[in-house]
Amino acid sequence: MGRIGDFPQNGDWAPHLHFQIITDLLGWEGSFPGVALPSQMPVWRSISPDPAHMLALPSGSTYTPEQDATALESARRTHLGPNLSLSYSRPLHVVRGWMQHLYTEDGQAWLDCVNNVCHVGHAHPDVVAAAHRQASVLNTNTRYLHSNLVQYAERLSSMLPDPLEVCFFTNSGSEANELAIRLARTFTDRRDLVVVDVAYHGNTGAVVEASPYKFDGPGGSGRPEHVHVAPLPDTFRGPYRAEEPGHTERYAAGVEAALEAAGRRGGAAAFLHESLLSCAGQIELPEGYLELAYAAARERGAVCIADEVQVGFGRVGSHFWGFETQRVVPDIVTMGKPIGNGHPLGAVVTTREIAEAFANGMEYFNTFGGNPVSCAVGLAVLDVIEREGLQERAARVGTYLKKALNELREHHPVIGDVRGRGLFLGIEFVRDMQDREPLAEVASYVVERLKEHGILLSTDGADHNVIKIKPPLVFEESDADRVVDALQRVLAEDYVQHARNDIHGRA
Ligand code: PMP
Repeated sequence: MGRIGDFPQNGDWAPHLHFQIITDLLGWEGSFPGVALPSQMPVWRSISPDPAHMLALPSGSTYTPEQDATALESARRTHLGPNLSLSYSRPLHVVRGWMQHLYTEDGQAWLDCVNNVCHVGHAHPDVVAAAHRQASVLNTNTRYLHSNLVQYAERLSSMLPDPLEVCFFTNSGSEANELAIRLARTFTDRRDLVVVDVAYHGNTGAVVEASPYKFDGPGGSGRPEHVHVAPLPDTFRGPYRAEEPGHTERYAAGVEAALEAAGRRGGAAAFLHESLLSCAGQIELPEGYLELAYAAARERGAVCIADEVQVGFGRVGSHFWGFETQRVVPDIVTMGKPIGNGHPLGAVVTTREIAEAFANGMEYFNTFGGNPVSCAVGLAVLDVIEREGLQERAARVGTYLKKALNELREHHPVIGDVRGRGLFLGIEFVRDMQDREPLAEVASYVVERLKEHGILLSTDGADHNVIKIKPPLVFEESDADRVVDALQRVLAEDYVQHARNDIHGRA
């Protein structure tokens, strides 16, 4: 309609005419507020007539609030399983995602520091376009020839070291681990498994049985006989600490002991592990641990499965795959979450020998796994990681953030440890550095308070005292600054200070 000025004249917002009819000027004269806090919305709406009525606009042209969060929460309770949990004491009603931000129904933006699924950014346009393009043409199963399937398998296996060259596609990380276990069992003709304590490998039958996080957690029925658990190699709070010489060997000896226990029942089919531990509390394996554990497993005829569902695809920055940080080559690698940037996709990549043993006459059919749309999405994700240099960015921004968190740690003894690699970091809260008693209540307080600063994080670990940081890889230095700045404020609050003072009270 016309020009009314340049951007700098309006604080770099598009200069615009703000025309507003209001039934009460509330005593204001001259300049009138153009924006308001979401919490004040009901008041402003009550004195601002809907322009759609005056301008005869079609319905939907002006804002009408969706169902409110309370109604949604109660509908969930009515129609969904009661153990489907929600994050935060006041759950968020998220309606939009864009790169490292989520947007709630009230228009607020939230910095997403925990969603490692939308790896290349929420709603990345290239990934969305790839899905849309292929879904507009064809989506069907793998019993027909399709170039997306072979292109994707070729590309994915080219990103792995030899002899990992045969792909199977699934719809989730759980399904990938479930299939990996079947491959290992068929190949070795054994049933038992060795896993690491507090590990989580997914929600289906065989993998819940292989997840101490679940079977030893609330509602779990304990360790099944065929599963043998190696101690959690936690060098901060575990029995062998980083400063203790020989800690790697001692933790690896724990894997050996678990393999021996399996040996008394006919031997382990597989040693299944994450390459950096996530649910167990963002733990980096001690240097050299997997080399020793793999040697012990292979000596006893077990295959080695690396679960890269959380940490694969460049997240750790220094390497594309987590297992590469330990200089080992697994026999089977499983993938999920980031592989499809939010599209339900998973994969298993293994050796020719294992794949051939699995082809024992029984067909492997998976209705959705490897469909043309999923493969198009998987290819687009790999393209974006490469084109946007996201692995390098994870290294750069992750190092920057870790350094700043470590500086914060020097002034806040409640932070016992800052650890991790790339954009896979953890902050562990403890009462003091002597006993290292976990402070779960401080970790969850900090998460709730950071949420009030518009920052989304969550806690995990055996004692739930670790904040996990694993944002989409498009995370920037300025985002890291924002997290550190808000964290610094929250750590200065009375609640956190008293949690520390309590120590002196108790002593
Ligand atoms: N493995 C690991 C290490 C995981 O963290 C998860 C999910 N949190 C899974 C497997 C299962 O993946 P999904 O939920 O996609 O089935």
